[in-house]
Amino acid sequence: MKIIAVEAIPYAIPYTHPLKFASGSVESAEHILIRIWTEDGIVGTADAPPRPYTYGETQISIKNVVEEIFAPQIVGLTVFDRGAIHAIMRRTIHNQVAKGAVDIALWDAAGKYMDMPVHSLLGGWTSSLRVSHMLGFKPAEELLDEAQRFGEEYGITTFKLKVGRRPIDLDIDAVHVLRDGLDDHVEIYLDANRGWTANEALEVLRRTEGTGLTLLEEPCDAKEMMSRRRLVEKAAIPIVGDESVPTAGDASRELLSGGCNAICIKTARSGFTEATEILGLCTGLGVDVTMGNQIDTQVGSLATVTFGAAHEATARRAAELSNFLDMEDDLLAEPLKIVDGRISARPEPGVGAHIDEEKLAKYRSDN
Ligand SMILES: [Mg+2]
Repeated sequence: MKIIAVEAIPYAIPYTHPLKFASGSVESAEHILIRIWTEDGIVGTADAPPRPYTYGETQISIKNVVEEIFAPQIVGLTVFDRGAIHAIMRRTIHNQVAKGAVDIALWDAAGKYMDMPVHSLLGGWTSSLRVSHMLGFKPAEELLDEAQRFGEEYGITTFKLKVGRRPIDLDIDAVHVLRDGLDDHVEIYLDANRGWTANEALEVLRRTEGTGLTLLEEPCDAKEMMSRRRLVEKAAIPIVGDESVPTAGDASRELLSGGCNAICIKTARSGFTEATEILGLCTGLGVDVTMGNQIDTQVGSLATVTFGAAHEATARRAAELSNFLDMEDDLLAEPLKIVDGRISARPEPGVGAHIDEEKLAKYRSDN
């Protein structure tokens, strides 16, 4: 059980379709694969996606904080010393994604030791999640084509539309084109990635009334407190905190101050341990959660499925799991499949993210 090494391997896999949104864009998945090696040959694996425009972390910063600061203090402990390892990581502030990946790798290794799938260890609510597909910035007709194609090809019936553009009419038109073109049972919700002001968001909600939107995520900067609170009070749908709530403490602050009334959980930044804390906070206070995507690889998406399938509240809504379809390739040996609009957690011990060593050798950027 003793940890003998912690690896942080940089790699790059190009996207076939770069994704554009209000706070940035991605052209290539330049991520870090975290591997925690034990004396018995069991390896815990997780993916860390650097998102400098949200958390300030880069590929190099994640590699360095894991290998230079965390690893020397973690080696010698066991994969079940999670509390002690978190105490070590807390002594370095920020670095959410690096810490989240270490946490998931620890859970993966622990599951393998216990010969149990991690989604069962975490809660075992169900074994698969409905998939929500994210639609990035495109002309409205192209968005509709994409949504229809994903409906036909994968059975997906929930779409998150990336908004936050100016003039706001661009996004309002896109909502109406999607609503008019898609079947009534198809769910549409919005994520503005802080692109608007709170008052612009209110205007968008007013002008999309009757379209059945179900959620509005991170409409504006959460620091815009008074107007954001007014938006949360006046909106007929939940206002979801995402970038404003990377930690359980942030989620408490935003929920209690009226900055949002639903929370997006992302295992890429919270790991499974802090995601569990955030989820408990939300179910305790009676607010909805969504399972978000950090433009994850298949390795990362499998972690989201593992956590989301474990709990009733996280399995209730469709989870954002399809971004990996825009990547040329992946490190996962057995690809994730969307069947009838759902992705399943893996039944084998751990998280089930077996890495294809040949692909890792091909895409790693440190050799
Ligand atoms: Mg978001």
